Order: sequence, then C-alpha cells, then structure tokens
Amino acid sequence: MADKKKIYLSPERRPAPHGPFADGVTFEHDYCVEIAEMERKDLERCGFEVIVAPDSMTIAQRAKEANRLKMDLYQAIHTNAGGGTGTEMFYYPDPESIRANQLVYDELVELYPSKRGIKNGKAYLENNSTDMVSVYAEIAFHDNKKDVEFLLSEKRQIAAALARGTCKYFGVAYLEEEAGGQAEEIARLKERLEALKKEQQEIADELIRLAERLKA
Ligand SMILES: [Zn+2]
Repeated sequence: MADKKKIYLSPERRPAPHGPFADGVTFEHDYCVEIAEMERKDLERCGFEVIVAPDSMTIAQRAKEANRLKMDLYQAIHTNAGGGTGTEMFYYPDPESIRANQLVYDELVELYPSKRGIKNGKAYLENNSTDMVSVYAEIAFHDNKKDVEFLLSEKRQIAAALARGTCKYFGVAYLEEEAGGQAEEIARLKERLEALKKEQQEIADELIRLAERLKA
C-alpha cells in the first residue's frame, strides 16, 4: 500500500481567543478547532493521515512538531479581523506553497466571493518555520456580520473546501461524505484481509519450521 500523505492541521490556538465573532458568542479558536475536526474526517476518508494540533501547543511548538514528524503539508486555519470581507490566503514564497494556497483559495471562493486573493505570508511563523508545504487560510472576517453568517451557516462546506483543495494539491480524488461510509468500510475490510493474510503466512512458516525440526 502506498504511503499515506501526512497533513498537519493547525487551527487557531486555544486558550488565547480572538474575537468573539460579530455574533457575540463564537470565538475564533472554537470555530477553527471545529472546522479542523470536520476537515480531519474528510481528509482521512480520502486516504490521508491527519494530525490536528493540540490546543495547548504554541504555533512555534506546532511547527517544530510538524517538522519532527516529517508531515507533507501544514495547514493553518484562521478567521480574519480588522475590517474586510472574504477569504485571503498566505503562502510561503515558493512554487509549491503558492500552488497549494491557490487551490484551497479557489475552493473557498466557490462558497463565498472574495477579491482578496493569495498573498505573501513569509512573515508568518507557520509559513517560515515549517519545512513542508504550508497553507495559511483566513477563511473570512469574524468582525464582519455578513462574513459571520457565512462562517456559521457554511462551516461543513468550508471544512470540505479546505479538504478538497488539499486533495487537489496531492492529485487525490475527493470522496464525498455520502460515499464515505462505503469507502471507510472498504478500507476497513482491506485492512482485515491484510491482517488475515499475514497471520496465514505466519502459520505456514511455523508449520514448515516444525516439519523441518521433525526431519532433523
Ligand atoms: Zn487567528
């Protein structure tokens, strides 16, 4: 079986909250953690290995951990503030990071229009301290009422868009959730079959060893 590509998701850190959102009750960290958990399921269904950064880790620790684990892609998940609307993405200025950010951006703007585009995010630690391809998403503005309506009503689709862009970057087909139940069942049965084959081989080897000992 081919090696699984490893994705490190870094949703806005807890416990230091930005916000709350313009709705007064939702905080960036809670929202981004929820999105990351949804995206994790989407990516795992599509055959990726996924780690979601623990709440307690600083971004410096996360970057270090992702480097140590030799992840294939690092994705920071944020919502924006400061007066604006729509998605913007921040790449590390290398062709792979630019391509990965553009692919995710294209998926997000399908859901909600934006004129902000992808920008040079070399100054961001999660871009400049990660050895692997990095993607940095500011999904929409949590201090803009209309953006918040989008963030809250479309969160399932936002997570799927993040996953779809990631799939596209790796040239992997995105499996819709409906088909996912079956895909997971197939993957589970394949794993069982592999385990049974291994056990069968071990028993055969043991029989040969015993037969040879009898002959000796
Ligand atoms: Zn943030």
